[in-house]
Amino acid sequence: MRSEVLIVGGGISGSTLAYLLSRKGFSVTVVERRRVIGHPHHCSGILGPDAVSELMLFSEEWVIGEVNWATFVSPGGNEIEVRRHLATVVDRTQMDRETWEAALSEGARGFLSTGFKGLRSKNEALVGNMVIEYNLLVGADGALSSVADELGFPPMRIEIGVHKIVEGGKMDGYQVKVRKGSRFSWIQPWKGGRKVGALGRIDDPLLTWIQETSGDPAIGYEGGVIPVGPRKRFWMDNVALVGDAAGQIKPVSRGGVLLAVRGAKNLAGCLEDLDDLERALRCYESRWWRHNRREISLGWAVRKYLESLNDRQIDTLFTLVRGEGLLERDFHVDRQSAPLKISRLPKILKLASVNIGSAASALAEALKYMLR
Ligand SMILES: Cc1cc2nc3c(=O)[nH]c(=O)nc-3n(C[C@H](O)[C@H](O)[C@H](O)COP(=O)(O)OP(=O)(O)OC[C@H]3O[C@@H](n4cnc5c(N)ncnc54)[C@H](O)[C@@H]3O)c2cc1C
Repeated sequence: MRSEVLIVGGGISGSTLAYLLSRKGFSVTVVERRRVIGHPHHCSGILGPDAVSELMLFSEEWVIGEVNWATFVSPGGNEIEVRRHLATVVDRTQMDRETWEAALSEGARGFLSTGFKGLRSKNEALVGNMVIEYNLLVGADGALSSVADELGFPPMRIEIGVHKIVEGGKMDGYQVKVRKGSRFSWIQPWKGGRKVGALGRIDDPLLTWIQETSGDPAIGYEGGVIPVGPRKRFWMDNVALVGDAAGQIKPVSRGGVLLAVRGAKNLAGCLEDLDDLERALRCYESRWWRHNRREISLGWAVRKYLESLNDRQIDTLFTLVRGEGLLERDFHVDRQSAPLKISRLPKILKLASVNIGSAASALAEALKYMLR
């Protein structure tokens, strides 16, 4: 079988890309190793306003909850409250399934229960029991991308996220307990009830954190992996990576839907001529960075800074941030660097004073991304 573009992974990045490229007239095949699209899904489904408006196919029918407030709690119990609508919670299974169906209705060929098994040659891949010949191969196969492994992209560091699903107890906001090392646990709305989650490294006691965050009995658990940050390169030869496979996530919250959708849009927007793939893939990578550089660089600076603080320093930081009213006014789910404005330099320096040494290395981290 032959297809101009072969996409591995029928998640939000793969299906969005399949939809856009099919609309542009390319022949597209998308293969998904699961039997059912988006099921089971590990995602919290929290989407900020930018993600909602940038998802071309967004439907109110996906909405299963609203985040009308947030409370951030430091290890010692200092709280910062934000009282306004911040995000929408969607059913990721439904969102991924409808995006996949939209791609197929635009003419993409889709195969379920069909995993990527490896390359036969530079232009041929073994998927399920088929060999597909292509011009461009796209790995949209998540944080543990086998396309990236097969091509020899350097391994990506990962974190894990676990959810406990709780029956009843309607929730219309988001409570986040900030933990050492920029890790956190939370309670969020979920289908008329709530979910309790925790994010951290593989050896963190996530289930203990979940119990501490809410002792409610579980009716189920689910979990998944999250890339630690963007890869240095999103492409190699005639292969591109997009979404989690490329590490396209927000550094502080680790949300990935918005940046995955941008990745798919940037790649689709740059692909015009299959005979000049190098130009298209260079354009993709530089467009993604142009759209996301500020968030990635400042987000990484904040994350590096948080990672270096001990519990007592996080408590102090909370007191200072609350005193300046920074989050109450400017917290934004999609623009997490919003409180960091040049006009606020004196306030930012006051926050940095909690640990001057690590503020300097956080600044170096930001520069690393700004200058790339
Ligand atoms: C606990 C947790 C909570 C999260 N909460 C949020 C949130 O609230 N908001 C947010 O924006 N983001 C959140 N994220 C991140 C978000 O889920 C991801 O960034 C997003 O799903 C990335 O989409 P993707 O299409 O790139 O990858 P994925 O959603 O991982 O999709 C990859 C697809 O590829 C398929 N696949 C994998 N290997 C192969 C193969 N070899 N062959 C064929 N198919 C293959 C998989 O089955 C899957 O369907 C969360 C992540 C976790 C783990």
